[in-house]
Amino acid sequence: MTDLRTLLSKEEKTMMSDYVTQFATDGDSDHADIDYLLRCWNTAKGNYLYKLFGEKFQIKKTLVYNKPEDKLYDELQRKFNDWNSACYNFRRTFDRFLWENRITLGNDYYKLQLLVDVERLIKTTYEDDEFSVNTPDGRTIKVQKGCRPMRIISKVAKAYGGLNGLEEFQNEVSVILTQKKLTGEMTLSIHPMDYMTMSHNDLGWSSCMDWTDQGCYRRGTIEMMNSNCVVVAYLAAENNDMSFYAGRHSYTWNNKKWRELFIVTPEVITGVKGYPYQNSDLVKLVNSWLRELAEENLGWHYDKENVKYDHRTTFSHKHDNGEWADIRLNFETNTMYNDFGTISHYAIIGSHVTSGTLYTNYSGDEMCMMCGSTDAYFDGEGSLVCNNCDDSTCCECCGDRIRGDDVYELDGSYYCCSCYEDRAYYDVMDECDHDINNTTAIYLLPEDVDPADYDFGAWGAVRKDLYYTTGRVWRRWFNTTEAAEYKVPGTWGKIRYYVKPSMFNNIENIETIFDVSWEDYIPADPEEEDE
Ligand SMILES: [Zn+2]
Ligand SMILES: [Zn+2]
Repeated sequence: MTDLRTLLSKEEKTMMSDYVTQFATDGDSDHADIDYLLRCWNTAKGNYLYKLFGEKFQIKKTLVYNKPEDKLYDELQRKFNDWNSACYNFRRTFDRFLWENRITLGNDYYKLQLLVDVERLIKTTYEDDEFSVNTPDGRTIKVQKGCRPMRIISKVAKAYGGLNGLEEFQNEVSVILTQKKLTGEMTLSIHPMDYMTMSHNDLGWSSCMDWTDQGCYRRGTIEMMNSNCVVVAYLAAENNDMSFYAGRHSYTWNNKKWRELFIVTPEVITGVKGYPYQNSDLVKLVNSWLRELAEENLGWHYDKENVKYDHRTTFSHKHDNGEWADIRLNFETNTMYNDFGTISHYAIIGSHVTSGTLYTNYSGDEMCMMCGSTDAYFDGEGSLVCNNCDDSTCCECCGDRIRGDDVYELDGSYYCCSCYEDRAYYDVMDECDHDINNTTAIYLLPEDVDPADYDFGAWGAVRKDLYYTTGRVWRRWFNTTEAAEYKVPGTWGKIRYYVKPSMFNNIENIETIFDVSWEDYIPADPEEEDE
């Protein structure tokens, strides 16, 4: 088996190595060699996916597909809301017509309003209860399930001698509905760069897999890159590659405007979830394309049609050979965010699949992008670098990632520079910075005052917030090892701390610690005053 790494160009490897430096290891280019980092990718994709693609990393095909219905809905709805549009004006004309002719039209005249409706116009058929209306010359027009709303509207209009704006209305609707078909070049890829960039684009959408945006599940991309059953399918913006800057170089790579992961095993082919939007038509087309490839290049056999399923329930499936199987498809991941269960899925089922639950874990090895270990511990699903390699810490206050020199310690906790500056408080007694929240209010009480009579809350009470160190530090300043405590009467557990001048080693310490001049603070000796 060819080593797939030898088939990547030197330029591609440099680009991927720089990509890892820029977006995974936070600028550290000392990460393991790209060949080492791609060893699991090589084994996984070399298993059968490389052969599935006819020994290529990327294959392309032009697909004609339906625009998702919700997009059509939005476009048509916008027309109905725009008072300048033919849709808006015709609806008003039609409503007035129905009201003016209600007697002739008969009891169900108001039901005709249902036909000038965004959803029904998109579906192009009427699916509600049948009813009929009368024409002026005594005939009836039946509105049956499955009929085309546009045709009924024309019939009614014709019977009543025509309606203003009908033709413009029909044109406007058909312009939108004929854009239902889109053409795009779909790429199927097992190229490692397409896994790393699966949510990286400059088209304005993102997901939790984006490496450049600290995506909270981005390590999942590595499991997908190292999975032996997962391929990436995408529509790239035409003539509009994305440029990015990595490891001091500029690069360009395809700009994914839509992408979805697909799982291919001998038992099942299925899409995972489309980003940034769902398009079940694209999923079914890609599933079918993958089936053709697997039949041709791997000799695997599947049933022809796509089946819609819910991964939580067992469904009865009729194989192409007429045999029935009760199947439940269950997909799991390790770290990767598992999209199954959030939407309905489409699958193509292997011809040999019998009744039972089919478990597939579609994750490959996870890996540290720094050391290349597949057996490492990580700090959260967003980390691409293992705990061993990562010398960065989270600021305990704002949560920012901080590295080596930018980490500030305060009372045993780690902060970034700006959070440190917000919290740090210089304590004069032990001459160190402490967390302002770890300080204790200590009052300086006049010598002759009983703390029970002292108003601690009064303005002018001399108070200092000190990091309450006690012990040796206190001995340097006081002839005690700690401040005196005073329990507030009747308030359980509430303590006030205070010191008195007689507790100081040196009365000048009052100035240093409490910022008050001891001469001002100590009342003058009454005898001296008398002199
Ligand atoms: Zn590591
Ligand atoms: Zn911070």
